[in-house]
Amino acid sequence: MNNNGLIVYIIGTTAAGKTNLSLNLGIDNYEIISCDSMQIYKEANVMTAKATAAEQAIKKHHGIDLLDLESEGFNRKQWNNMAIQKIEELQSRGIIPVLVGGTHYYIESILFNQENEEKQIIQAAELNLHGKEPYEYLKEIDPLAAEKFHPNDFRRINNSIKYYQSTGQLPSEQIDHHSDECKLRSNNFLILWPKWKKSEDLKKKVSERIHEMLEQGGTEEILRIFERLGNNQKAVGGILQSIGYRQFEKLYQYYKESQLQFPNVDDKFLELRQEGLEKLINDTMAYTKKQIQWIKNRILCNSKIDIIANRLFVLEFESTQTFKEQVVIPAQKLYNLFCQLFQQGKLEDEQFKISSQDIENIPIITPEKIEKYKATQKLKQRNNWKKQECLLCNKKMNGPYEIEQHFKSRYHRINLLKESQLQKKKQKID
Ligand SMILES: [Zn+2]
Repeated sequence: MNNNGLIVYIIGTTAAGKTNLSLNLGIDNYEIISCDSMQIYKEANVMTAKATAAEQAIKKHHGIDLLDLESEGFNRKQWNNMAIQKIEELQSRGIIPVLVGGTHYYIESILFNQENEEKQIIQAAELNLHGKEPYEYLKEIDPLAAEKFHPNDFRRINNSIKYYQSTGQLPSEQIDHHSDECKLRSNNFLILWPKWKKSEDLKKKVSERIHEMLEQGGTEEILRIFERLGNNQKAVGGILQSIGYRQFEKLYQYYKESQLQFPNVDDKFLELRQEGLEKLINDTMAYTKKQIQWIKNRILCNSKIDIIANRLFVLEFESTQTFKEQVVIPAQKLYNLFCQLFQQGKLEDEQFKISSQDIENIPIITPEKIEKYKATQKLKQRNNWKKQECLLCNKKMNGPYEIEQHFKSRYHRINLLKESQLQKKKQKID
């Protein structure tokens, strides 16, 4: 991007009020760019929670309805090209782009400058293995890097060898600098993260919303889209694989076989719809966990956290009733403030401290919190790479972070429980 304008991001999980917030930032000098890998599809409106016609009348939305249902979707690069073009266009008209969405790798592709020319050149380079197996060859030149990769992870192994051959540097050194590779594209940004205080309440909201969607046009939309794409091989990687549709494949199969005519359906149909609904709630909740993990891993553990922390706000709320007071009003204040700070050129400064501003009681990310994130980050670093295997779960782990995570995981604990029950049974038999 040539001009270095202010960009606002609204991130967070599904059903956390991102759309609501994006329509209510106060000053009317912005337009919305949706960052959602499903909303790019035309005709998939209800189950993707796309802004309604009424919402689009309030604020202009970009990044939606770009592809036909038959399409396989955008990869990150294609999406990035579209978004950058849109951002530049808006900025050239003096409009602030507000990027809103839950597809975080899309957001990441704008927030961080990932176009690394050197990397591209390396990836395009010829691979010379000197007649050896890639993994064996890598082990010879850089055992530390080899230890990090799975022997079948050919893509990363090959790239590491190419890196060594084109730069003469050790691949393990390169990996060490991974977080520095992700440079912030600009310091002129504000990130707003509306977040449910309790995850039980998020789950309640997710469930409520999915019920509503299915009642209000979602069921017809699912049947219609399956009808259109059911036999289309190309669409397999696209919308039908998306959360919100794939959970209803069985429902559609039954609908077709029994030659029902919606809305005249039978008990079996309703039963299968309920099954899909429950699956969708579970999958959505699993997805929200991933979304939060992404924010933690990619944003809060980023090497640029000191800059980010002064521009990122976690706005926690307890209920839909308190959303306005706990999210909308603080966000409006912040948006107003950041527009001014940007005008004054203050955001450019890496040393900018939000504590120097009067933001009343809006919580900020404190140095203590940053220290905590950094400690987690450190655990993940290469110097700590050590391998361990959990024989119980048959799982290989790299480094203390993965090891710690595994032993804390539900999966491991369940296996542990099963194992102890098995032992007890054996003892009884003996
Ligand atoms: Zn285990």
